[in-house]
Amino acid sequence: MRVSSDRFSENVRRALADRKLQDALTKATVRFMGVRANAFAKYPEGDAFRDDARRIKERTLAELDRYLGQLADSVRRVGGTVHWAGDAAEAREIMVGLAERYRARLAVKSKSMTTEEIGLNEALTEAGVEPVETDLGEYIIQLAQEAPSHLIAPAIHKSREDVTDLFVEKLGSPRLSRHEELTHEARRHLREKFRRADMGITGVNFAIAETGSVVIVENEGNIRLSTSLPRVHVALMGMEKVIPDLASLAVFLKILARSATGQKMSSYVSVITGPRREGEEDGPEAFHLVVLDNGRSRLLADPRLRESLYCIRCGACLNACPVYRHAGGHAYGWVYSGPIGSVITPSLVGHRRAAELPFASSLCGACRDVCPVRINIPHLLLEQRRKIVSGEDGVPRRPWEQRMVRLFAYVMSSPTRYRIASRLSYWLSRPFVRDGVMSHPPGLSAWSRFRDFPAPAKKIFRDRWRKLNAGEHS
Ligand code: SF4
Repeated sequence: MRVSSDRFSENVRRALADRKLQDALTKATVRFMGVRANAFAKYPEGDAFRDDARRIKERTLAELDRYLGQLADSVRRVGGTVHWAGDAAEAREIMVGLAERYRARLAVKSKSMTTEEIGLNEALTEAGVEPVETDLGEYIIQLAQEAPSHLIAPAIHKSREDVTDLFVEKLGSPRLSRHEELTHEARRHLREKFRRADMGITGVNFAIAETGSVVIVENEGNIRLSTSLPRVHVALMGMEKVIPDLASLAVFLKILARSATGQKMSSYVSVITGPRREGEEDGPEAFHLVVLDNGRSRLLADPRLRESLYCIRCGACLNACPVYRHAGGHAYGWVYSGPIGSVITPSLVGHRRAAELPFASSLCGACRDVCPVRINIPHLLLEQRRKIVSGEDGVPRRPWEQRMVRLFAYVMSSPTRYRIASRLSYWLSRPFVRDGVMSHPPGLSAWSRFRDFPAPAKKIFRDRWRKLNAGEHS
């Protein structure tokens, strides 16, 4: 699902001018980073679990076909049905088809970026099924008709006052100002939806090949209700979410909540194994698992980018990223934002459509430092940049840029050429220098729009150094 213009640079300009958005982003990301740092500081074993988690992901993805096959067998064994979706359209068709088969009129949904990725709500609505988001943040943005702007905090860009206004306008609520009052108001509306829903739709945090269970973590209890009250439960997962066994799950649970919200453990961890069995009092009559590819095979097949599929969607890299913290999620123009979004989006939607995203990073490495599965995000961003400048996926080449880089390499690879170029740069830059900085250097005006470009010095460093040494020795 598209969430705004695909021009990152345009979206960012709007985001930077929005004071309320900047305040909301700063408050939320600083808080998230603080609680994460605190959680890991109190848990020194956490680092070893991060290594274990990475090893499990490496092992599972190396034999993904085998683990997916085992998962499918296990799900069938416990009474569920498995569907395979090659792309978003196929996944929508399967899920809308299930809604029609079970004559569903109302579907309650838990937070799922994968359902956002396939544009499920629009497809259900078109088919006459009312989809209702039940995670508070998702409910807020559904009322606002917006897209999520963070992996775990979809309404991170909204202030409490924004939510008050929204509830007054969309729900006819009185002007409630306290968080508890707003939460209570949302719960009052949602309970009625849970009671009437025919179908529960969820994402999947982990799918266990050995047992056929899907595992979903949350803090609000809405997933418990979505998976136990309606007659049918449909879970949608990206194919990389499979893990071998329950022992692997224990490893991921130790690091997921700590990385996401700083908690030792999420409030609810649901391990759902098939539909309701004979003698059980709650749970759905039918369970369907939809496994989605939608470009993931491309990432899997690429040894340099495969690592991006280790992501467990904790959101920590977004909070740590200086670009995300100013741009916000909507600026990325697609469902997955922040550093990991900039890596996977070009491969999911095509490099041509997301050509700006891998460049939306200072490559400072803060994302890699906090990633619970130690994904080397800066390296992956560089690889996506390489693909873009080499014209992959129909991205128009920029011959002048390539010529500039070749010229730069030619100059920098010889001390004599470097010395001549350094001297020339002072004279060539003079027409553009004002008060010691270049205001609009040719070819670099986009860079210098927001910062000063220091003017080249008249006396180059090598000459000064030589003089200094000569002075010392005389
Ligand atoms: S890349 Fe790492 S830090 Fe970012 S969301 Fe995924 S798991 Fe979390």
